[in-house]
Amino acid sequence: MLTKDSKKDSKTELTPLMKQYWDIKTLHADKILFFRMGDFFELFYTDATIAAPILGITLTQRNKKSDDQTPMCGMPHFSVAGPINKLLSLGHKVAICDQVEDPKLAKGIVKRAVTRILTPGMVFDPDNLDATLANYMASLDETSVSFVDTSTGECFYFESDILSEKLNLIQIMPVVELIIKTDFEDIGLNILITKNDFVSKNSTLPYSAQNLLDYVQSLTGQNMKLMLRPFEKKNFQGRLEINSNTIRHLEIFSNYKGTDTGTLFQTINKTKTSSGSRLLRQNLLFPLRNKLEINDRLKQVEMFRNNLFELKKTREVLSNMGDVERRLSKTSLPQVNGRDLTAMAESISAGILALQVSEKIFKSNSDILKLTELSSEIKKTIIEDAPLSVRQGYLIQKGYSVELDELIDLTTNVQALLMTMETQEKERTGISSLKIRYNNVFGYFIEITNLHKDKVPANYQRKQTLSNAERFCTDELIELEKKVLSAQSKRNDLEFAIFDQLKNKILNQASDLLILSKDCSELDFYSALAWLSLENHFCKPDFSDLNNLQLIESRHPVVEQFQKNKFVSNTIILNESECFLITGPNMAGKSTLMRQVALTVILAQMGSYVPASQAKLPVYDAIFTRIGASDQLTEGLSTFMVEMSETADMLKMATKKSLLILDEIGRGTSTFDGLCLAQSILEHLIIETKAHAFFATHYHELTNLDQQYQQIKNVHMKIYEQNQQIQFLHILSEGPAGQSYGIQVAQLAGLPLTITERAKILLHQIESTSVKPSLAAKNRISESENSVSIPTVKVSSEGTAGIPVPKNQSSFFD
Ligand code: ATP
Repeated sequence: MLTKDSKKDSKTELTPLMKQYWDIKTLHADKILFFRMGDFFELFYTDATIAAPILGITLTQRNKKSDDQTPMCGMPHFSVAGPINKLLSLGHKVAICDQVEDPKLAKGIVKRAVTRILTPGMVFDPDNLDATLANYMASLDETSVSFVDTSTGECFYFESDILSEKLNLIQIMPVVELIIKTDFEDIGLNILITKNDFVSKNSTLPYSAQNLLDYVQSLTGQNMKLMLRPFEKKNFQGRLEINSNTIRHLEIFSNYKGTDTGTLFQTINKTKTSSGSRLLRQNLLFPLRNKLEINDRLKQVEMFRNNLFELKKTREVLSNMGDVERRLSKTSLPQVNGRDLTAMAESISAGILALQVSEKIFKSNSDILKLTELSSEIKKTIIEDAPLSVRQGYLIQKGYSVELDELIDLTTNVQALLMTMETQEKERTGISSLKIRYNNVFGYFIEITNLHKDKVPANYQRKQTLSNAERFCTDELIELEKKVLSAQSKRNDLEFAIFDQLKNKILNQASDLLILSKDCSELDFYSALAWLSLENHFCKPDFSDLNNLQLIESRHPVVEQFQKNKFVSNTIILNESECFLITGPNMAGKSTLMRQVALTVILAQMGSYVPASQAKLPVYDAIFTRIGASDQLTEGLSTFMVEMSETADMLKMATKKSLLILDEIGRGTSTFDGLCLAQSILEHLIIETKAHAFFATHYHELTNLDQQYQQIKNVHMKIYEQNQQIQFLHILSEGPAGQSYGIQVAQLAGLPLTITERAKILLHQIESTSVKPSLAAKNRISESENSVSIPTVKVSSEGTAGIPVPKNQSSFFD
């Protein structure tokens, strides 16, 4: 088979077309080249062999009949969006090579040139992206990290000289492409890396931001720069720190299976617009650390809660609003069509209406007057249901201009003119079967059957002879044809020019449109949080300057959705520097409880109401979690290694103001190693870190530590036991758990009886030979007690299963 390289070496033997192909391809060796040939885009050589299996299209040869075995595949020019996005999503870059002159006018082979370069961050069609997810290009240098989403215009940067801090941000964000300087060391992230060097000019922006702008510009030219908002500077200190491990452990955006079912984001996302859901996602990633800012957001949510009519109406209107940011970015692309502009006008109108409806609650910065004019101009200009092509007319409304109206009349009245001429000719010749017709080869002609041949007038000029008829033209018909065809082509050109002008008008108002979109996404964010809180009976969190955590009747926002009315709320009170040492059998609800605290803190610091009947919180600076066992074999780390390195990071970075969640520390190694590590880590937390910590363990030996350290609060998840059967009550209670119940839980899980019975005998043997820690078995509810009444202790909940729905609210949702 002729390979790309051998072909390149023997350019002299190539056909002119393939020579042109290679001249272009050589300049874009790292990209898949879409080469326009007539109505098709063709891919050749390695590009074809790479793309065909990905796109599921047939790999063929350029000319099967000859010796030319050049591999190739292709697709019609109008259906490239899907294939291109598929290639981009897999990390490929694509160069689009178009015919840049009219083939009819070309002397020799048609001139071709690369008109667009697409990368994962420079998408072909923003409509094909996940609407709730940003599509960032990121860049970093020694002192900063920057992000740009060309599909929405969002641009921001952080300054930091700590590499791990910058890498963490890149990992937690939906980054599809990383642009770095050529001399930057390999940073080991699994993201497409492009090297680009920008020579800094007089700009106050950090190098990484300028490098991104430079790169975007090199791929797209001026139009795209118009679509970008000014860079916003964000700072690490303003954000509640949550690293990528914590985001994964808490299943904020994706569950352990890698899908979004049962994630926090999916559960709380009540937004009505794509940009609103992207903002929610962003705010979940960047919860605040400033009490005033948090309270401002909470106030806004509260105002919506207090104005139910406006809340409902705003959400109703927002649901008709499309994605202004992504529509705007599409407007800058060559494939934008009339329907895109009409959709933009509809979105603008819906956005404006939403701002008007919520006027008394939400302060907007949008220039409503200017945008109303723009929207009505689009609606007045573009025909509803405009054709997909913008070059073939029938796209601009009648009445837009006198000149266009004349051309529209001429082209649409041609049928009537032809009918009149046909009637006149029939009368003049006396041939009733005479017809005026049209085809692509001969244009307009008069057709007369052989039967009436002798009646053909002298001024008829013969054009074509068929077996049963003759075709003629006349001077008048030629004149009419010229007029019609030139009117149609003038109409097409004029309509395109009007479309182009309107498109540029929209692009010139990009900054107004981006403000509208920002306002509406905030409106959506706040109203969605208000709705969420009403639907789920969340309460407004109260932030205190004391380092105390008080969650009354707290629930897990996600688990409670799956257990409607069965979820047991718990009250959690933790004073300054205290640590909850949580024991209880497997399945008792320890992990759920700890995660619900972490999720409650994230929600609260994002500005959301929280799943509890009352919530008082400190403003935390970070949440660290060490939950569950997870191998990172691809990164050469065993389960225990991952556990210890995550714990090490946590201990290094946590402060007094952090929240720590540690679930079963030390279980990845031998019992005694694990126990000793767990105790020394716990002691370090109490003595050195002094953060609020939740420490769940099956090492009951640790529960004795409360004698030594008053900061340790022994709590356990209560269970009910009868006839050696156990039932989980999910109630948090004071004191350590009575025993592990591991064997009973294994029995519940269906382990064969022979195994569990043998395990009981072995356990009995071990327990009778070793010193048992003095556990407080009194906290177990046993069969000796008649009822399931729970002792009232400071930390326990009332044991309520679900929260009653207040009457006034339930009717609102009916
Ligand atoms: P293990 O030690 O095996 O990790 P665990 O004590 O951490 O177990 P969880 O995983 O938190 O237990 O909870 C087990 C299941 O119990 C959850 O999946 C959930 O369905 C249910 N559950 C937990 N807490 C509650 C609650 N408060 N109310 C109702 N159901 C709950």
